[in-house]
Amino acid sequence: MSSPANEAPAAVNFLRKIVADDLASGKHSQIVTRFPPEPNGFLHIGHAKSICLNFGLAEEFGGQCHLRFDDTNPSKEEQAYIDSIEEDIKWLGFRWHGAVRYASNYFEVLYQWALHLIESGNAYVCDLSADEARAFRGSLTEPGKNSPYRERSVAENLDLFKRMKAGEFVEGSRTLRAKIDMASGNINLRDPVLYRIRFAHHHQTGDAWCIYPSYDFTHGQSDAIEGITHSICTLEFEDHRPLYEWFLQHLPVPCKPRQYEFARLNLSHCVTSKRKLARLVAEGYVDGWDDPRMPTLAGLRRRGYPPAAIRRFCERIGVNRAGGLVDFAMLELCVREELDSNAPRAMCVLKPLKVIISNYPADEMQTLQLPRHPKQDMGTRSIPFSRELYIDQDDFSENPPAGYKRLVLGGEVRLRGAYVIKADKVIKDESGQITALECRIDADTLGANPAGRKVKGVIHWVCAEHSILCAVRLYDRQFQVAQPEAEGDFLEGLTAEDMAAPLYTNCRAEPALLQAKTGEAYQFEREGYFCRDREDLKGKPLFNRTVTLRDTWGEGKH
Ligand code: ATP
Ligand code: MG
Repeated sequence: MSSPANEAPAAVNFLRKIVADDLASGKHSQIVTRFPPEPNGFLHIGHAKSICLNFGLAEEFGGQCHLRFDDTNPSKEEQAYIDSIEEDIKWLGFRWHGAVRYASNYFEVLYQWALHLIESGNAYVCDLSADEARAFRGSLTEPGKNSPYRERSVAENLDLFKRMKAGEFVEGSRTLRAKIDMASGNINLRDPVLYRIRFAHHHQTGDAWCIYPSYDFTHGQSDAIEGITHSICTLEFEDHRPLYEWFLQHLPVPCKPRQYEFARLNLSHCVTSKRKLARLVAEGYVDGWDDPRMPTLAGLRRRGYPPAAIRRFCERIGVNRAGGLVDFAMLELCVREELDSNAPRAMCVLKPLKVIISNYPADEMQTLQLPRHPKQDMGTRSIPFSRELYIDQDDFSENPPAGYKRLVLGGEVRLRGAYVIKADKVIKDESGQITALECRIDADTLGANPAGRKVKGVIHWVCAEHSILCAVRLYDRQFQVAQPEAEGDFLEGLTAEDMAAPLYTNCRAEPALLQAKTGEAYQFEREGYFCRDREDLKGKPLFNRTVTLRDTWGEGKH
């Protein structure tokens, strides 16, 4: 089946060409990439871009992609994050090659390599405090100053570094630094820190270490150990590339991977920084990392986003070195395309209004069979029809605006998949609230056009007795503003209530929805795409809106 996405030309991905050229020239016979998350939070939609890129290239070119946790910072990391990251990658449809890897697997080799740098006169133990080291580092416009400890002898450095490892010194009192160039125009080359003292328990290595390597001293060497050919990262690491290469030149590494940078994904109407997402969780704006309002993969999954839609989105945005903001509407479009093709249809009335069919016997009930999908062969669903039904309050009007195609007094509409009905009478309570409608069906209109007249409107409905009570939450974009991170604190002036989604707790859905599984999206006819939450709301199934039927953002209808 063809869809707009399949017809669209593949978006530009400059790395695809680099890989293809490297294979064609024989520089590599097989490519090896890696996805290197730090286990300090859940993955978000930005990570999906990197996952699709790294795993996607390996898949496309018959290579391998590793999953390697970049776990050099024990205090912020947790096993729960490791588990969620693995689950999210699998859910997206990718499998890493071999076992899960951890940078911490290489702590011993890295330690040996640190000794190697000391022995070759390329690293020294420095006793400057963090504040002093910062002052010595200089700035973008001024060169740094050499540390007074820079000329220590190899023997003294070896002794001190081994004693750092043995736990003889307090945290913050000493670091191991590379001896490169304090006057370099690139601050990353001004004697960067290789090791810090941290008496922290590590989720993988326990209490085996009290010195931990820096990200820079770990990343490239881990790539080299694993035989990574293309080390792909986001642009903020461009300035780290000279350091990445310096380590590869000065260490006895088994191979020399090459680093390539691409522009990170910035998506409108949400925040994609783990640090900021962590604040939303910690400060109670949302109900955890997998809250359906979160642009985390776990949140999007819970909201009903299909993994294929996210992969399609990542393919469509392409990969380049120019940044820019991608409109959230593009992600929603991919979700709609995927769900339009694959989500079964169902009827659910969000704000029920009772309809009594005066010419239908009270003791009668019939079961209608409706297709589960208008185009795909997904079988049928059974929909009971009887004297009392529910339609949505919004589908009836006593004072219809011009062009209103739904039900009005004396007017007719088609009940989706059933009869044409006519509204005869409005029933109200003492306060003037409409409590029910009295209607009649045209018994000849089941599966047939009414004789001699045209009925334009079609509305959804459910049987009053044989419908299920459920709750529906109308999720929309995470933030009203396009760029919440643009200036100041993104949470300033915002309360948890501002982020709350409209909730309907007395909805009525067709019986088939009792079987709806968590994570399985449905199209609620005329309402949007919805997916059952993993938790019920006060004993009622709860459905989360995945996305609206069409792009109504900015029309005040969300
Ligand atoms: P955050 O800013 O959310 O903390 P991070 O870059 O610190 O993200 P990591 O766990 O270090 O998170 O990221 C793992 C990989 O995902 C890295 O290679 C990183 O470049 C990539 N990545 C993270 N955010 C994005 C994004 N918005 N777009 C593309 N790739 C991203
Ligand atoms: Mg990071």
